[in-house]
Amino acid sequence: MNQTESPTNFIRDIIDEDLQSGKYNRVHTRFPPEPNGYLHIGHAKSICLNFGIAKDYGGKCNLRFDDTNPTKEEIEYVESIKEDIRWLGFDWKERELYASDYFDQLYEWAIELIEKGLAYVDDLSPEEIRAYRGSLTEAGKNSPYRDRSISENLDLFTRMRSGEFPEGSRTLRAKIDMASGNLNLRDPVMYRILFASHHRTGDKWCLYPTYDWAHGQSDSIEGITHSICTLEFEDHRPLYDWYIRSLEIHHPRQIEFARLNLTYTVMSKRRLNQLVQEGHVNGWDDPRMPTVSGLRRRGYTPESIRAFAERIGVARRESTVDVSLLEYTLREDLNLRSPRVSGVLRPLKIVLLNYPEDRVEYLEAINNPKDPQTGTRQVPFSRVLYIERDDFHPDPPKKFFRLAPGREVRLRYAYFITCVEVIEDENDEIIELHCTYDPETRGGSAPDGRKVRGTLHWVSAAHALDAEVRLYDRLFLVPNPLDLNEGEDFKDTLNPHSLEVLESCKVEPGLADAKPGDKFQFERQGYFCVDPDSTPEKLVFNLTVPLKDTWAKIEASQKKISS
Ligand code: ATP
Ligand code: MG
Repeated sequence: MNQTESPTNFIRDIIDEDLQSGKYNRVHTRFPPEPNGYLHIGHAKSICLNFGIAKDYGGKCNLRFDDTNPTKEEIEYVESIKEDIRWLGFDWKERELYASDYFDQLYEWAIELIEKGLAYVDDLSPEEIRAYRGSLTEAGKNSPYRDRSISENLDLFTRMRSGEFPEGSRTLRAKIDMASGNLNLRDPVMYRILFASHHRTGDKWCLYPTYDWAHGQSDSIEGITHSICTLEFEDHRPLYDWYIRSLEIHHPRQIEFARLNLTYTVMSKRRLNQLVQEGHVNGWDDPRMPTVSGLRRRGYTPESIRAFAERIGVARRESTVDVSLLEYTLREDLNLRSPRVSGVLRPLKIVLLNYPEDRVEYLEAINNPKDPQTGTRQVPFSRVLYIERDDFHPDPPKKFFRLAPGREVRLRYAYFITCVEVIEDENDEIIELHCTYDPETRGGSAPDGRKVRGTLHWVSAAHALDAEVRLYDRLFLVPNPLDLNEGEDFKDTLNPHSLEVLESCKVEPGLADAKPGDKFQFERQGYFCVDPDSTPEKLVFNLTVPLKDTWAKIEASQKKISS
């Protein structure tokens, strides 16, 4: 993918053409989710595209729930979808629409098709319909019920509606062409009998339209001009066109684009639902999930998701985007807006032997070097501090410039310190360091000009707040979890170490008022976001993304090794 050029958007080219030729004099798009799960980043791409186009052309974008399948749909999903779209920054205004609102109109149109001799009631069972359908290489066979009279069809269809026949016993089918090279045109089913309650229409119907029968007509009813969908619907377009032409109603133009695929990610609601139901993750909004609610909880900003959608653009050819591009885009955004704070993930206690026991100093720290207007803050410093365990090495290897026995380093915004003694417990575990500080180095530089190579972050032990930090890694171990051998399941490729919980972290006291959703850069570590699981006693943070892309580096080095 080309990252430097702004993406050539073939969809906008088509719209421009249609406006110029006068095919349409306005732009009206829609985002049509089926409320059978939470939205994911692929949906976010489609939302940005549809709402973005409407906005840029001064048009409208509808939110339409494609709720034709009563058995899989729930209000919970409707609510989450609305919340996610709003959070992404888009507004459907008064146009919260439902395909189920069109059930009456669809039923009337079905009658119209029957009257035109273009639809018939079929008594074949679902298995028989499949068997009669043929294959890509073999023409289908006409159903023995295909040539029923119009009046018989009308009679049977109205009785189907009034609940006279058992589930699965009859269907209504469009009468098109059982020999068509396009399987979608081999007399597709328009209605099936289903004694199920619908989340909006209740028990009014025991007859439900198929997606293919409902979708195009819903677009038409709403006056959609450009019906943008993913590539798998390309072969359905001739069918949608057939229905629209047969009914002689408003004809939206369907445009297909390639769906978003991301490395190390699965993106279908069905599979994401499996991860939730089988407990591989802690819900749809688990911060490891590629759902919009998961990304939000993880600390993604709507701006970064919109920027990502813009950056990847739209294409006609299937491809997979490297998930590190998403993370890179996020980092760019967070770098500008996140206050810097000190957070110690794996604390190691240090005692400054020559610092008075009862003294507390307040040192000035910069809030965000990328945004000088945010100014500075005062952070407490005292005799007992915590530093990161990884920032000390008892026997430092060559390029380790941080703290080691006898070595001097800088504590950021504070003083130079030197490690004079390492305290171990009976198991030879390092439990504490004794250090001295140089009072002349306040603020972080020595008057005699001597240099240190390492600068560490720290918190004052007496002042720091307890925190839990949840570190996340990729949910899957392999770039394409769906590239499987016979007998393998995508869940076999789950990363068993995708979540690591650190329970005894320490963060600077200024975070006491942090609220769920607040975002910070923990200096030298990464971006973190306050999780709703936080309590007044203990803050809980999610690792949003590390500062540097260690993953890409590891991959690059692995590639080197293997080549
Ligand atoms: P899934 O397989 O994840 O359930 P879906 O296409 O069945 O996806 P819908 O609720 O029917 O989900 O989709 C709503 C809209 O979002 C559709 O217009 C669909 O084309 C679009 N969409 C779904 N997945 C992606 C994706 N990965 N990239 C871009 N658009 C997508
Ligand atoms: Mg679907």
